[in-house]
Amino acid sequence: MDRNTSVPDEHGEAATAWTHMAAAMHDTAAREGAALENDGGHGFETLGRPLLWRTFRGTSFVRDAVAVERDELAHQWRVIPKYDRLFQALLTILEGFDVVQSTGTRVVPPDPVRTGRLDAELARLDAAKRTWLAAYPDLATNLELLETCIAHLPGVLDGSVAATDVLFPEGSLHLVEGVYRGNRNSDYYNRLLACGIAATVADLTERRPKSEKIRILEIGAGTGGSSAFVLEALKPWSDRLVYWYTDISVKFLNHARTHFQPHYPFVEPQLFDVARAPDAGEIPPGTCDLAFATNVLHATPHIGRTLRHLAAMMTPGGIAMINEPTHIQHFGTLTFGLLDGWWLFEDGERRIPHSPLLDRDAWTRSLRENGFAEVACFGRGERSAVASLQHVITARYDGVPRPSAEPREAPTRVKTYGPFKPMNADLIQAQRAGAKLSDRKREYLAAFTEHYRGKNPTSRANAQKFRARYADQRAIAFFHPTLKELCFPLELDEAEGAALRDVDGNEYLDIAMDFGCNLFGHRAPFLVEAMRGRIANGLALGMRPPSAARAAELLCELTGHERAVFTQSGTEAVMTAVRLARHATGRHQIVIFANSYHGHADGVLAYGMIEDGRLLTKPISPAIPPGMVRDVVVLDYNTPASLAWIDRHRDSLAAVLVEPMQSRGLHQHPGPFLRELRRLTEAADVALIFDEMITGFRTHPGGAQAWFGVRADLCTYGKVLGGGIGQGAIGGRARYLDGIDGGTWRYGDDSFPAVERTFFAGTHSQNTLGMAAVEAVLSHLRQAGPELQHALNRTCAEMARRLNAFFIAEEVPMMVQYFASLFRFEPNGPLSPIDQSLFVYTLRDKGIMISEIGNNFLSTAHRPEDIDRLVAVVAEAVSDLRLGGFLPRRKPARAPILPEPPYRTDTAPKTGSPKWGALLAELDIP
Ligand code: PLP
Repeated sequence: MDRNTSVPDEHGEAATAWTHMAAAMHDTAAREGAALENDGGHGFETLGRPLLWRTFRGTSFVRDAVAVERDELAHQWRVIPKYDRLFQALLTILEGFDVVQSTGTRVVPPDPVRTGRLDAELARLDAAKRTWLAAYPDLATNLELLETCIAHLPGVLDGSVAATDVLFPEGSLHLVEGVYRGNRNSDYYNRLLACGIAATVADLTERRPKSEKIRILEIGAGTGGSSAFVLEALKPWSDRLVYWYTDISVKFLNHARTHFQPHYPFVEPQLFDVARAPDAGEIPPGTCDLAFATNVLHATPHIGRTLRHLAAMMTPGGIAMINEPTHIQHFGTLTFGLLDGWWLFEDGERRIPHSPLLDRDAWTRSLRENGFAEVACFGRGERSAVASLQHVITARYDGVPRPSAEPREAPTRVKTYGPFKPMNADLIQAQRAGAKLSDRKREYLAAFTEHYRGKNPTSRANAQKFRARYADQRAIAFFHPTLKELCFPLELDEAEGAALRDVDGNEYLDIAMDFGCNLFGHRAPFLVEAMRGRIANGLALGMRPPSAARAAELLCELTGHERAVFTQSGTEAVMTAVRLARHATGRHQIVIFANSYHGHADGVLAYGMIEDGRLLTKPISPAIPPGMVRDVVVLDYNTPASLAWIDRHRDSLAAVLVEPMQSRGLHQHPGPFLRELRRLTEAADVALIFDEMITGFRTHPGGAQAWFGVRADLCTYGKVLGGGIGQGAIGGRARYLDGIDGGTWRYGDDSFPAVERTFFAGTHSQNTLGMAAVEAVLSHLRQAGPELQHALNRTCAEMARRLNAFFIAEEVPMMVQYFASLFRFEPNGPLSPIDQSLFVYTLRDKGIMISEIGNNFLSTAHRPEDIDRLVAVVAEAVSDLRLGGFLPRRKPARAPILPEPPYRTDTAPKTGSPKWGALLAELDIP
């Protein structure tokens, strides 16, 4: 044992427990530790070399025998960004095994002599394995795990194989279980841990009154490798204990319920995540006499923060035990190192290089700094001839609470918008646990649910009836376990103007307006007429509908673009615009911004994260291969730092793709940012792409380009454009659009489509009905002129003013943020998800069809009395909800921010079409 401190005894009882615990562990280590021949790791190191050689000897790097830069090798092996650290660690291992050598930043492959030696060793691999297994039969599954992981390393590194499929084939734990139990090494440390815990409990139970329980917290219990030992050792004190068996996954809690609870009734499975600040949940902070964790704490991002959370759970004088490897072991890197969790850490300076592990000194220091005055580490005992690769580190909490404020840490994530909301059993479980309602709220909710169900019998019955067949993501947009009975989509019967009727005959004022597609109200006569005419004449796709070319003309005229192409959806428009930009610039990397949405193509569904000071890009949801976002960089929107980054990297960028006004950030004033983006991209020939899906034609006939006074190279459109028929478009400079058809040419001379094309297609991209709708919409807009949008924008501003005045007067922590005729009800202060969802359900119940994703819109079909009705219904909804104890009075945190006014300058942008100045001059928006 290494004692690090003397024992200042301000917690008498705990101090004696500490002394007993230390003595017991010391004896066990002395008795049993020396008997371990070694920790098993040395053997793995020996087998690791031929196994790695077998996997990498066929790579071109080894075959070509040419030294390359590290970066070049990463490129050759197509290492995806999230595995950069694993790749560096792997190189270090290969170097340690003398498989490769390093000179500065270059990696040298083995020469023929070394290759011969390695081949000879590989030829002896089977024999070596047999010898090794005879010596360590209990480590057979560990060897299987190592072999499997090394064999799949290249696929994991390039992202084509999911590490979880390798380590947990078909969800099975059999490959990894052996690491935590059933081998001499893990069993020894588990016994050591169990004896320390038992000694502490023996002491505490003796000193405490019988009525007072001893509380034990096991963190990250998993399948119970350590629990099995500890629980058995605690059996004599069964009736004196509370034992929280915790994990971040309910799967493991269920395991505890079936495997441990029947034999040890004092076990209480609970969700608990030590990486998060403790709250007053099921396990009250400050109440644990003992806490322990095996192979868990290193797998958190920041060890100091984790230990503060641990300390916050302890009673003063409480004892923590941490069972962890304290030396780097190649076995760990080559197996668990394939999993994302291994590389979660952000405090590399605390960890053993190339691993998330901490050595004994780092543990001691970190514990001391975070509230544990006394620390003692137990390895293989003083009689052992070999150094311990693992320790049980024990520490006693000094009882002095540390400031709750988190230290300033490097940002770990670029602020991100998740159009993808993760939903899984763990999260639902956590939501359920977090949503404890008072009796008053419960009663109100029960009555409201009864009423709402009664009003919507057909919609609800259909939701249930068709759920098995119809996979509908929108139907669970609001899912919350507490509001489950209210979660069903209302089914449409009829739509007219700004009014809707559902299949149960309920009528609504529509403010969702088809996700922003609807600018003219339902069944706008000019649109109905155009479409009826087209349907009457047939919808053949094989010939070009004359509307298509006329619509392209109109689009260019209204927006000032040189050329245009149509697509089947907004998503496709964005996807194609990015392709056109990459094609024209010959570069691949694009920048997008956090909190933006650009449709659901894999190539833009990314978020950014900062790790070790490096910017990484990750897919936002499972099943998007990391390679799909490899050439995407996600920066914060509207910040000088992002502009500086773009400036530094502009020579390697194909495009900057931006929602000129983020629909989920309507409080922003991005004009100067967009103008600076234009300046930077123009100087470096980087395509500036405005995604005008929502702003296009709604804000102004010229869209956000006109509003902000910025001419983009490419703009993507959809929504309003198709008048409700799914239709997208790209408008932009000929330089980019020529990639679609090779550029313009004439008859009667030797001209031809001379520009090299990229790929573009789409059966329905210029479908006959859609094109009729697009032509009708654009003709209507041209005829109406910008006053159509101006008037609507004024109505929206006035509506927002009235609603915000109400929220402020009534101290409702909500506000309306708006831009043009798009508006959102946003929380303005703390507002629980249940309060927010109930606000939406209540508005729907009272006849306002509000959007489930938050973006609401006005159309030219909304009349002044509709606005009056909306304002009145919001007031009624707030009053009702307050009767039930929801939407508590709270002073709104801040005043709503008025939208940035349109750019007005006499110096219109120098670039772009001559119509541009005219478009700007027409702007006159309050
Ligand atoms: N870009 C933006 C800014 C959007 O808001 C959307 C859809 O909401 C899209 C792209 C995707 O368009 P679609 O849903 O038509 O594919």
